[in-house]
Amino acid sequence: MAHVAIIGAGIAGVPCAFELRKRLGRQHRVTLLGSSGYFEFTPSNPWIAVGWRRCEQTRVSLRDPLESKGIEWIPENVETIDAPRSRLTLRTGQTLLYDYLVIATGPKLAFEEVPGLGPSGFTYSVCTQDHAAEAWEKYRAFLQDPGPIVIGAAAGASCFGPAYEFAMIVDADLRQRKIRDRVPMTFVTSEPYIGHMGLGGVGDSKGLMESELRQRHIKWVTNTKITGVSAGSMTAVEHDEEGRPKKEHQIPFKFAMVLPAFKGVDAVANVPGLCNPRGFVLIDEVSQHLFGGRLRRNTTCGGDAGSDGSTEDWLHDRIDGERDLREHRLRDRWQTGDRAGHMERGVPRRLRRHGCRFRRLAGDPAA
Ligand SMILES: Cc1cc2nc3c(=O)[nH]c(=O)nc-3n(C[C@H](O)[C@H](O)[C@H](O)COP(=O)(O)OP(=O)(O)OC[C@H]3O[C@@H](n4cnc5c(N)ncnc54)[C@H](O)[C@@H]3O)c2cc1C
Repeated sequence: MAHVAIIGAGIAGVPCAFELRKRLGRQHRVTLLGSSGYFEFTPSNPWIAVGWRRCEQTRVSLRDPLESKGIEWIPENVETIDAPRSRLTLRTGQTLLYDYLVIATGPKLAFEEVPGLGPSGFTYSVCTQDHAAEAWEKYRAFLQDPGPIVIGAAAGASCFGPAYEFAMIVDADLRQRKIRDRVPMTFVTSEPYIGHMGLGGVGDSKGLMESELRQRHIKWVTNTKITGVSAGSMTAVEHDEEGRPKKEHQIPFKFAMVLPAFKGVDAVANVPGLCNPRGFVLIDEVSQHLFGGRLRRNTTCGGDAGSDGSTEDWLHDRIDGERDLREHRLRDRWQTGDRAGHMERGVPRRLRRHGCRFRRLAGDPAA
């Protein structure tokens, strides 16, 4: 019998728990650990922050859905991971042993990297439901006495979409309330250009997004590092193409929402050898399979904590063996052609280049 523990009940961890429960034999245990009792749908947070949704409408209590499927549920924060002993310590002091560990903890929000940034400073956030609910309280007060708004993303943010989305939502909300003309809006971002999104742009995202912001009378400053925030004013230093400081902006605001830099959460970042200096789980350039073999044979990672891809496949391979592995590969091949092709052809070839030997499975049409 194997015990799989998954840390983090977010967009990566919850589906991973359901998928593993479905694929693994019933003799194996699956335990999900989360920091609250709910699955909170993060992409709805911008709506909460302008009062278009309430928190209760965008979250689901996890106990019943998980336990009805035979998934053990522990709504407790994991404080430490003792990887050599395969042991977790929870906030309560309770310990939990595992055979396999999935890290799906998402990012730590590094507000502290900019003085005055974040809900304990002078800007608000939509990164968590609690932050969005707090932003809604402040936004409601702002509506009584409107003024300039700043929305943006700090240097080190790795998720820019929600900042654009929130700018558009606020613009729409203010128009509906017929006070848009009283609110100058500025978008401040560390991206080198509008629509870069941390991805080097997507199609014509630069042209499209610039046009959208222009039409909505939202000014922007790009390639900019926010260096400090005080009550009602943000200092942001624009850089040139070589990364040299070019111009310092003092941007006044009455309401500001800024996405912070992301880091790895402490419990994960503190595991020796597991993470890069920012606390993100190191994923080998080839795949999680090789990462699992090289670092810790029983640890893998999904979601924003470091990686994407076939966490469930990887665990299923290791726990339920080759016969079942062949079955799920064949099923995957028909269901998701591209991904199966990648697993069957690309990964083995590249693994071999790194000295791994990958045994073809009898009866596998890819052999
Ligand atoms: C406002 C906003 C809007 C977005 N909109 C979109 C969108 O429209 N489309 C899209 O594709 N992506 C969107 N994203 C990105 C998407 O939400 C993330 O990529 C996704 O949530 C990452 O999933 P995850 O499970 O890795 O991390 P998370 O969803 O952050 O979940 C991690 C969970 O682990 C918990 N946790 C952390 N540490 C511990 C610990 N020590 N012990 C126990 N639990 C712990 C956290 O509390 C959290 O519940 C958006 C992000 C934001 C902030």
